[in-house]
Amino acid sequence: MSAKSSASLFDLSPAHVRAISPYQPGKPITQLAREMGIPVERIVKLASNENPLGMSPKARAAVEREIASLERYPDDFELKSALAGHHGVGMEHLVIGNGSNDVLDLVARVFLTPGTSAVFSQHAFAVYPLASLSAGAELIAVPAKEFGHDLDAMLAAVRPDTRVVWIANPNNPTGTFLPAPALLAFLRALPGDVAVVLDEAYTEYLAPAERVDTVAWVRDFPNLIVTRTFSKIYGLAGLRVGYGVAEAGVADLMNRVRQPFNCNNLALAGAAAALTDHTFLAESYAVNHAGMEQIVAGLKRLGLRHIPSHGNFVTFHVGDGAGVNQRLLKQGVIVRPIAGYGMPEWLRVTIGREADNERFLSALASALP
Ligand SMILES: *Cc1c(COP(=O)(O)O)cnc(C)c1O
Repeated sequence: MSAKSSASLFDLSPAHVRAISPYQPGKPITQLAREMGIPVERIVKLASNENPLGMSPKARAAVEREIASLERYPDDFELKSALAGHHGVGMEHLVIGNGSNDVLDLVARVFLTPGTSAVFSQHAFAVYPLASLSAGAELIAVPAKEFGHDLDAMLAAVRPDTRVVWIANPNNPTGTFLPAPALLAFLRALPGDVAVVLDEAYTEYLAPAERVDTVAWVRDFPNLIVTRTFSKIYGLAGLRVGYGVAEAGVADLMNRVRQPFNCNNLALAGAAAALTDHTFLAESYAVNHAGMEQIVAGLKRLGLRHIPSHGNFVTFHVGDGAGVNQRLLKQGVIVRPIAGYGMPEWLRVTIGREADNERFLSALASALP
């Protein structure tokens, strides 16, 4: 195959596809091991907001049982009925995704086309521009306010051709949080023909006093789509399961464009079991809470500014993000550079177990200029 023919095929793809910048995942442990010759067991990865406790033991047992039935196509009934019970909604409101990323993509495919636009915030989750551009929509990025979503400015940015507003709450990578009254005021003011995606990947890490039943809001706001994931506190990032809750007609459309078997047997079984593992959830919450205090105290000791976070990660200011990141990698510590989010002076670290947090803090002390 000549280079010439593949170059012309590249150029035939729509301009909006070629405009996409690739998603940059946290560096895998094995990759750092290959690159720097550091043994895998000496590497600490605090880069992808994964659960440091691993997966729920109940989920593991369910996945192991399910291995016996892999010749069968997936059946999502059990997970859907568990979620329906969990949220007190009918199953017709649910859309299961291969990760919540998949659900975000389904929203884009249902509502966005060339000639429409999508509103999102500066420093918001990278998948929103990805999904919007893939569908050919125009992106409207609204400047952040104190690193969080500026809902008034986002409302003002909505145009007649706007079909989707993306909101991450808490937001990744900044950890900022919008309290319920602000969100409700936004939903009331927004025209009903604009879909609002409320991406709540970290909602289980919120303090009890901050938690609200946003799924119940779907009844009052049929343009609202709430998304959740099993990747974060449930510890199933590698299985890929998430879901959306929406008005029945919207859920129906999303299910029509969804691949019929987008979520596999193991993922469906693991997620249904994880949902009931209250012990694991409580432990994960407690470890995160203690680890957050430990890391924030450590950052303060080092004289570093951080953005108060409502998730399982915290973003802190180092000045030369790329340089500090490189010196952390050399010591076997993987965090997340966020230059791609317009924050080259900052790094994001996932809250880990106590010993790993300590390793991160001491590596950071020697990585600072
Ligand atoms: C991690 C994350 C997700 C979850 O992605 P999955 O596809 O479910 O693994 C969604 N939204 C935000 C803001 C995230 O940080």
